[in-house]
Amino acid sequence: ANIPLERIDPNRWQIPKRYNDAMNVPGIVYADDELIQQILSDNALTQVANVATLPGIVGYSLGMPDIHWGYGFPVGGVAATDAEHGVVSPGGIGFDINCGVRLLATDLVRDQIKGKADRLADALFNTLPSGVGGYGMRRLTEREMREVMKRGSAWAVEEGYGVEEDLEVTEENGCLKGARPEAVSHKALERGIGQLGSLGSGNHFAEVQYVDHIYDQEAAEALGIGQLGQVVTTIHCGSRGFGHQIAEDYIKIAEAKQKAYGYHLADRQLACMPIHSQEGQDYLGAMACAANFAWANRQLLMHGVREAFSSVFGRKARAKDLPMVYDVCHNIAKMEEYEIDGEKKRVCVHRKGATRAFPPGHPTMPEKYRAVGQPVLIPGDMGRYSFVLVGAQGSMEESFGSCCHGAGRRQSRTAAKKSITGKDLLSQLEAKGITVRVHSKNLLAEEAPTAYKDAQQVVNVVHNAGLAKLVVRLKPIIVVKG
Ligand code: 5GP
Ligand code: MN
Ligand code: MN
Repeated sequence: ANIPLERIDPNRWQIPKRYNDAMNVPGIVYADDELIQQILSDNALTQVANVATLPGIVGYSLGMPDIHWGYGFPVGGVAATDAEHGVVSPGGIGFDINCGVRLLATDLVRDQIKGKADRLADALFNTLPSGVGGYGMRRLTEREMREVMKRGSAWAVEEGYGVEEDLEVTEENGCLKGARPEAVSHKALERGIGQLGSLGSGNHFAEVQYVDHIYDQEAAEALGIGQLGQVVTTIHCGSRGFGHQIAEDYIKIAEAKQKAYGYHLADRQLACMPIHSQEGQDYLGAMACAANFAWANRQLLMHGVREAFSSVFGRKARAKDLPMVYDVCHNIAKMEEYEIDGEKKRVCVHRKGATRAFPPGHPTMPEKYRAVGQPVLIPGDMGRYSFVLVGAQGSMEESFGSCCHGAGRRQSRTAAKKSITGKDLLSQLEAKGITVRVHSKNLLAEEAPTAYKDAQQVVNVVHNAGLAKLVVRLKPIIVVKG
């Protein structure tokens, strides 16, 4: 694309407002020399400029180094809109509402997994339901579904999935306020009611990893992951068919209303609603239901992971000895306050493929993390590595408390499938000593490490830009995929 990028410094690029008359704010993209070349190879930067045309957008339309093309908004994008006069756009949250990442620590070290990897992989695969459209660990009644929509993780803990302490280390304590089940369609309810406690497919996974490198010993210890070789488990998934249906429903509603609102957007996929309109309020209420469903979902899955570990390791890994480190969402809109042009302003922060990254001292942090900052969980890919960072002050000053969410795609799913077969990929991973269990070998190829950017490069950019700080690097031992 012929986007007029202006270099700000080694990690930042600006898309000036003059690129497109309709832009209300400039775009900023975080990337180094090599990543910017990869980013320029798809239309993600045109999307950053398109997002800058949204009514009521403030500051900048932001692109993180893991940015790639998405529905309307890029994945890896952040946009804040004025809470009074701005809009909310379902495409700026994404179809998998509150897709997110959860990290669990253990007292085990890597050597203790050796010889038991197959058993543990089987236990995980059998405990965590996966596959497209698959059922979950628990089928809900309509009444229970209502509770899940309103209360999220707390409902799951009361039902025996996990412990009270888990809530403290979940973003928003695992419950977004303002959930309104009456704004959720019957179709969405039907899709969700059988799916609680399921991984889904493709990009969603549970991965047993070990701490391979420590960048910041003090922060790593505060997070309970300060030992080299220590075994941890990452869970990545979201709100399944439930959130997807809510996104679909409200995109349709928004599209039908664009004329009435008087909007002429750069791309119809940006369809949006004034935050204060009935439709905008309904969407936010339904989105909160999906967010809460996703947190309950990860809570059930984590319970399954704990059970799988204790079934294999007995007293060496009892469920209560597997403490949760943190849970972040990376597809969500949140009402937050920031200083913009010297004034405090309430905004609706759209994070789509972007992780909250609050700095040390932030009042929303649990006591034990207040001095180090909010844990930022960044999966990379199943063959190389993933990362844990903590939020830094820069995020409050320039990125609405946000940073990247992963490595980000560099190949489309179709291109990835063409470049390697599931079978070859499996043997490559096994040759590296990684044990894999997968529901669909076909989908596995879409998730090949080569389909993703190098996560190390991506996290280096957010670290060097001061949005977040590197804490540890994780390497995969067992991968369980949908
Ligand atoms: P998304 O939410 O955009 O689908 O995925 C988030 C990130 O997860 C991707 O950008 C990619 O870096 C990472 N990812 C995808 N599959 C895997 C996997 O199997 N293992 C790990 N560790 N990361 C993955
Ligand atoms: Mn997802
Ligand atoms: Mn995700």
